[in-house]
This record gives sequence, structure tokens and C-alpha cells, in this order.
Amino acid sequence: MIDLHTHSNFSDGTDSPADLINKAHAAGLTAIALTDHDTVAGWDEAIQWLRPGLALVLGSEISCQTSDGISVHMLGLMFDRENEELRSVMARTRENRIGRMHKMIARFNLAGYEITMQDVEAQLSDGATLGRPHLADALIAKGYLKSREEVFAEVLHNDSPFYVAHYSPTPEDAIRLIKGAGGAAVIAHAMSSLRGRVISTDTFENYVQAGLDGIEVLHRDHTAENRIILADIADEFGLVKTGSSDYHGNGKLNQLAEFHTDPTEFEKLEARTTQSRVIRR
Ligand code: AMP
Ligand code: ZN
Ligand code: FE
Ligand code: FE
Repeated sequence: MIDLHTHSNFSDGTDSPADLINKAHAAGLTAIALTDHDTVAGWDEAIQWLRPGLALVLGSEISCQTSDGISVHMLGLMFDRENEELRSVMARTRENRIGRMHKMIARFNLAGYEITMQDVEAQLSDGATLGRPHLADALIAKGYLKSREEVFAEVLHNDSPFYVAHYSPTPEDAIRLIKGAGGAAVIAHAMSSLRGRVISTDTFENYVQAGLDGIEVLHRDHTAENRIILADIADEFGLVKTGSSDYHGNGKLNQLAEFHTDPTEFEKLEARTTQSRVIRR
């Protein structure tokens, strides 16, 4: 079983990379991709804990925004982490997430919530990418709400007055950066309407021109109809179809390996990278 989209506590997951690798072994996965938001900081710890039987696919989920302001997540898999252009875009995104957090906190303060940057930082592991889930955890710790799900449903969804966007590249730029760094670009949960506005199906052509390699078809947030539409688009453009859990530890309901990727699809994806950056012990 191959799961190509998971998070650790180097972003908004709750398991350390070590725990994630151990759980992947226990779940009988044959390959797992670590795809923390806008960072590669968890790679080394994951590599260190890897044992025979499990392949580690190095990756990151790159936050993107279209020119219309629609949020898109692009999975970059098997890219060269030394690539300067990609590194600097990821660093800029992470940096911008800090100022954006201050703005969101200010909006909560105006509405009467007593919450500070220190409260949010207390929810964040060292070196992790800061995100809304950490603000959610701080609101829960303060007793305002009960779970991340509740916080997102009530006050932190993309259309909420408390929501502030942060700098992110366009999806086309992210694809070009990932390809320039030798990796594979797979668009994540493209039709997840739970996340707010989604791109129209016409948009995929632009992404294909930029070098898109694959589409995450199987994902908890996709309806049966979404999956059929996305599989058809993938077939039309000769793209790889993936399935994955988007596991976040206990930060989300998603269970490790709840969806997975066909081994032949994964082989096609690997063949579209410049060099294998899958770690096998
Ligand atoms: P950000 O990148 O800071 O804008 O935060 C987005 C992240 O919030 C996503 O990657 C999800 O992991 C998380 N998220 C979004 N909706 C929910 C939800 N309903 N419950 C828990 N986590 C969520
Ligand atoms: Zn996340
Ligand atoms: Fe995502
Ligand atoms: Fe994700």
C-alpha cells in the first residue's frame, strides 16, 4: 500500500516523523510520502527512522493561490531540496505565515477573544510551519471551542471574516519550481469544496502546460462524482492518478492509508522525476 500525502508535527500534523514512520510500518504500508506544508524540515528525522519494507518518498505540500484568490495545494514529490529557487519560495511562504498569523490574532482580539501569539506558538513544535491548525489548537486550549473541526467550521474556514491569506506562489509557478527541482507535481484534493472555492475543470489545461504530473483522485474530501471527473481529466491529459490519506495524526479524522496509490501509477510518477529520491533501506 502506498500513501503519498501525510503530515507530521513539522507542519500541522500531531505525530513526529519518527512516530509517523513507525505507524506506517505497523499499518503495512510499502511506501509513504512525508508532505509537510511548505517545508522539508521533517525529512531527516523520517529518514533516520526508516526500516526495511517501507520506502520513504520525500515531499512537501506547497501552498498556492490562483490570481482569483483560490487556495490550491500542490504536492511536490521527490524534488531536490537543495534547489535554491524552490527553497526560497518555501522560505518566503513560511515567513509570510507569521505576519498573517499576527493579523488573524488581531481580528480575534477585536472580536473579544483573548489570544496571543505566545498562545499559538505554545501549540507549535520547534521548526514547524505555522498554520491555522495551531491557532485552532490555541483557541481550544483557551476553552473557546472543542476541536479543530469545530474551529474550522465556525471561525477559521476560508470564507470566515477571521481568515487572512498569506503569500503563496501560483499553482503554475509551484509546478514549474517542483519540475525545475527534478520532482513530480501532483495537485492535492483539487475538488475539495469543504476548503472553500475550488478551481474550475478548465484550469487543468494550464497546469498541464506548466508540467503537472498527477492528480490526487482518491481523497476523503472528494465525492464519488469528484473522483470520476478527476480521473477523466487525468486520463485525458495522460496524468498519473494518486490516492492518499492526507493524514494529520489526531489533528484530523483522516486515517493513515485510508486511500492509497496503485503501484503502477506510482512507478509512472517516479519515472517523471529526474532521479529517484525515494529512500529505501
Ligand atoms: P493554513 O495552511 O494555515 O491556511 O491551514 C490550512 C490547514 O488547516 C490545512 O492544511 C488542513 O490541514 C487544516 N484544516 C483545514 N480544514 C480543517 C478541518 N475542518 N479540521 C481540521 N483541520 C483542518
Ligand atoms: Zn494540513
Ligand atoms: Fe492540503
Ligand atoms: Fe495535506
